[in-house]
Amino acid sequence: MNWGRLFLRILILVVASVAGEVVGVRLGVSAVGGLLGLSTMATLWALREEWRSLRLIDWLKRDSDAPAPSLPGRWGDIAYHAEKALRVRERELAAAHADQAQFLQAFEATPNGVMLLDSAHHVVWCNGVAADHLGLDPVRDRLQPVTNLVRQPLFVDHLLGGDYEEPLLIGSPRHHGSLSILIRRYAADRLIVLLQDVSAREQADAMRREFVSHVSHEIRTPLTVLSGFVETMQALDLDRSERDRILGLMRQQSQRMQSLVSDLLVLARLEGSPRPAVDRWVELDGLLVRIEAEVRSVSAGRHRILFPPSTHLVLAGQESELHSAIGNLVLNAVRYTPDGGDIRIEAAVNPDGQALVSVQDSGIGIAREHIPRLTQRFYRVDPSRSRETGGTGLGLAIVKHAIQRHGGELLIGSELGRGSRFSLRIPSARVKVVGLHDGTPTSQSSVQSVGESDH
Ligand code: ADP
Repeated sequence: MNWGRLFLRILILVVASVAGEVVGVRLGVSAVGGLLGLSTMATLWALREEWRSLRLIDWLKRDSDAPAPSLPGRWGDIAYHAEKALRVRERELAAAHADQAQFLQAFEATPNGVMLLDSAHHVVWCNGVAADHLGLDPVRDRLQPVTNLVRQPLFVDHLLGGDYEEPLLIGSPRHHGSLSILIRRYAADRLIVLLQDVSAREQADAMRREFVSHVSHEIRTPLTVLSGFVETMQALDLDRSERDRILGLMRQQSQRMQSLVSDLLVLARLEGSPRPAVDRWVELDGLLVRIEAEVRSVSAGRHRILFPPSTHLVLAGQESELHSAIGNLVLNAVRYTPDGGDIRIEAAVNPDGQALVSVQDSGIGIAREHIPRLTQRFYRVDPSRSRETGGTGLGLAIVKHAIQRHGGELLIGSELGRGSRFSLRIPSARVKVVGLHDGTPTSQSSVQSVGESDH
């Protein structure tokens, strides 16, 4: 209580009534003079209060961003406290808005789609990824029922069904592929819809399933043959020559399984190990000597095989992988070239420093339409011929994988009935020409590096 101000007001009232009395006496109505003075004073007072309150209300209603009107007395106090409360509320609101904007930015930054729905399934908000997956416009489609925008029956049934325990898998409405949709409730009756493009995962799963079924099939065939032979040997009393023939066939089948398992292990190693180092150098000549010995024993003199006398090349990488890559190509040339055919192995360095190791044969060749699929696992142009010659259907997949891990590529050229040429391109950073100076072989110390980068 402000006593000074109260005293002042009482004083004004007394002065007003005395003044009213004086005026009343002058006018000859002394009896009501005091009353008149008092009521005039009270009216003026009320008008002044009214005007001040109107200014305050006007500020609150229209212009509360501006400073509060400066008013004396009680109205000034009210204006001060109202403005203070207003500013506090504004700051809290701004902070809440900033928090909300940050949350939405975080949702926007996720690689998955996020969509918020109200209790009647209207789109409250969705990020760009969700909009892209579902073909929505985040601005135009706001507050539209999502079932009007995404009409896939599976999605609509799932949303309306209300059982969101399991995610839903649907074909992407906009793109090829699959979309996983997970719905969760929040704030009692609102929904958050999370979308994830699972096309790659689905594709990988399908490939894995196909791979397992291929492997099972490849293993089951020789196993069936083997168990058939075992039963025959148990049931029949065979003479020695018949027994030897069957044992030979059993050996063939078990070798087939061995090759398959060993190729599968090579593939698994290729997929699971880091890229071959760029500073471990392998002499190509030494590698070719070992491959030549293997391949000549397989050909057993049935082909004319020509290896280069000296390539002067060293290659950076994993020796076993380079061996697999080149060895498989030469072995294929032997297997798919009829007896008496020619096989030629060559190595050359391009002017840009890349090496090309090629295997040319005069064999059966490959029709053009098969070439893009040759490196797929278990793809064979003629499955019976491949099996007859001990093929696993994994050779070229291994070659491609191994050479790609060295930054290179496999190039295939072929003409049906005339022969094929398989080449490995090795990037210049992994190639050194050794002991060649002006066309003349020199000592090992003059190793020459050609090219800088590993492509
Ligand atoms: P496979 O074990 O069946 O030989 P690969 O992956 O090595 O498996 O080869 C895939 C297919 O490519 C073979 O089945 C064969 O049809 C074809 N092929 C590979 N190399 C040659 C070649 N030098 N000449 C003709 N066809 C070939």
